[in-house]
Amino acid sequence: MAVTCKVCPNQCHISDNHFGICGVRGALDNKLHLPYHGILSATSVDPIEKKPLYHFHPGAGIYSVGFFGCSLSCPFCQNYRISKEFPRKPEGRKTRPESVAEAALKSGSFGIAYTYSEPIVHYEWVLECAKEAHARGLKNVLVTNGYINDEPAKELLAWMDAVNIDLKSFNESFYHDELGGSLRPVLDFIRLAADSVHTELTTLIIPGKNDSTAEINKAADFIAGIDKNIPWHLSAYYPAYKYSIRPTGHEEILKLVDTAGEKLNFVFAGNIGGRSDTYCPSCGSLLIKRSGYSTIVSGIAGGRCTGCGSDAADFNIIIDGAT
Ligand code: SF4
Repeated sequence: MAVTCKVCPNQCHISDNHFGICGVRGALDNKLHLPYHGILSATSVDPIEKKPLYHFHPGAGIYSVGFFGCSLSCPFCQNYRISKEFPRKPEGRKTRPESVAEAALKSGSFGIAYTYSEPIVHYEWVLECAKEAHARGLKNVLVTNGYINDEPAKELLAWMDAVNIDLKSFNESFYHDELGGSLRPVLDFIRLAADSVHTELTTLIIPGKNDSTAEINKAADFIAGIDKNIPWHLSAYYPAYKYSIRPTGHEEILKLVDTAGEKLNFVFAGNIGGRSDTYCPSCGSLLIKRSGYSTIVSGIAGGRCTGCGSDAADFNIIIDGAT
């Protein structure tokens, strides 16, 4: 008899002593088996900009935890050693959620980020840890491919404060043929997240795969239809895992940033060292200056733009000390 996992749209039917597509959720004695529960691949304090989140406590450090496994099979995965090619026998100590929350508190971070590989496939552990974090006054940040079913999504988002969701393309066949998934549930999750928590999006731009002006325009229209203040990070791809396609050129990224910037207030270039500052959509004043991971909030005082007095919260910019 197979066990059905309902966390993500793959809805794997898992036979005894086997794993689902993510490689970490299995079946044993006809029950769901989670041998990777609490097995972390990494912990580190990172700049929040590394997630990337540009408008959620800019300049702050966040205690980050990583896992193993992933529900999608991106052939260009930049973290494939922990998402796909990890030991199929869990190794290492199981970490309790309360230990991570305590460590985050001690580190002086304002919160915990669930990141590096796909946190959703460790849904139960992330939920437990998020509750421990809130109990200590810490924020929770989910960095995810957004591939999750509606019910667990709602339960998880209830404990999150911010998310960065990968929008890997705006093309259903790309999701199906290259990633082994589907675009529609990701779009549903983006809508749901943007309705309840601070949301930013990331797209890794891959030459010839997801970089047409038409596709970027369609995606920008979708995002603007939700909220034109959602930050969108268009990042340069580098060859990794199964892809040997050339890296994305700087000029190509900048052109797409300009294209999307005609519809959205905040479009940033990623991985190219530039076009990463935040300007006030009302008066054009520089609000947040970024250089690498150094961030200076120079144009916001008392939560308002120093140029025109606009409330930063009206643009979904959450600075330290604000909620
Ligand atoms: S979380 Fe893993 S086991 Fe569950 S449905 Fe998704 S891929 Fe399958």
